[in-house]
Amino acid sequence: MKILLTGGAGYIGSHVLNLLGQDGHDIVVVDNLSTGRKEALLYGRHEEFNLEETERLEELIKKEKFQACLHFAGSIIVPESVEKPIKYYQNNTQNSLELIRLCEKHGVHNFIFSSTAALYGDSATNGICTEESPLIPINPYGRSKLMTEMMLEDTSKVTNLNYVALRYFNVAGANVDLKVGQCSPNATHLIKIASECATGKRPGMEIFGEDYDTKDGTCVRDYIHVDDLAQAHVDALKFLVTKKESAVLNCGYGHGYSVKEVVETVKRVTGKDFEVKITGRRAGDAGTLISKAGKIREVIGWTPKYDDLDLIVRTAFEWEAKLS
Ligand code: UDP
Repeated sequence: MKILLTGGAGYIGSHVLNLLGQDGHDIVVVDNLSTGRKEALLYGRHEEFNLEETERLEELIKKEKFQACLHFAGSIIVPESVEKPIKYYQNNTQNSLELIRLCEKHGVHNFIFSSTAALYGDSATNGICTEESPLIPINPYGRSKLMTEMMLEDTSKVTNLNYVALRYFNVAGANVDLKVGQCSPNATHLIKIASECATGKRPGMEIFGEDYDTKDGTCVRDYIHVDDLAQAHVDALKFLVTKKESAVLNCGYGHGYSVKEVVETVKRVTGKDFEVKITGRRAGDAGTLISKAGKIREVIGWTPKYDDLDLIVRTAFEWEAKLS
């Protein structure tokens, strides 16, 4: 297929690019390299520009006649979104609006959107999120993504555009062959930070809050291996092409680990010790976010292979060591 992939030089986009490239698809990546890296572009042709450049984007979409668009480009850091909301509404909402408009206008009928569990906020009972749980995001990141889901839902009702929104839970680890991994500068994500500690790049880390209503007081998240998440996009693409309908799907394993459990796992798996300080809560954090994971398996036949925190941590650590 001829595919437009935005944000293909970033963490998740590069893993999906790796799978789609291996399958022989004809891919054009639009990425301005603001956070992504050129070395992560293992397949496809690269167009280096910002999605805000609407005229250039339209020219490309018009010329290439893509059959599908996978939209990864965006900003993803919860605390940063609290500090810089406009950046999030620009990068995540405004740029998505233009992209959806142009896809619809130029006949790109299959759209896959990187959505997020942050849409649920603290709304789900016991933090177990079904796709029908109320959507009450508690930070600008989640709100910026929710608006894009709404635009897709409304547009798909009255046009030929079908979409799959994948609501990612906590994506972590690196490609099992270590071809790609997470390179984000100034990373804020837990397993990445702990891996940096284990490789000696950081002297220590903080745990943000131990007064949540969870088993040990620290936040609980559903950590999913990035290759499994990438496969979900391949499955979603097949679903769109064969079924010609839309779906909104959680993408997680269905169980969670606390921050303390994750940090202990990193220390055990890597055999490295490092300093961990408990500090106050971080703005915008929900207590528990766990996917109710059945729908994605039923609807698109997703069968994860790496539901194993030790493996997630090991690949994250090995990738981190390879980077240094
Ligand atoms: N976290 C932490 N210390 C860190 C980074 C993250 O305690 O250095 C916690 C964070 O407060 C949250 C969980 O780890 O409870 C997962 O955060 P992350 O940023 O990895 O993902 P998010 O759930 O915010 O998308």
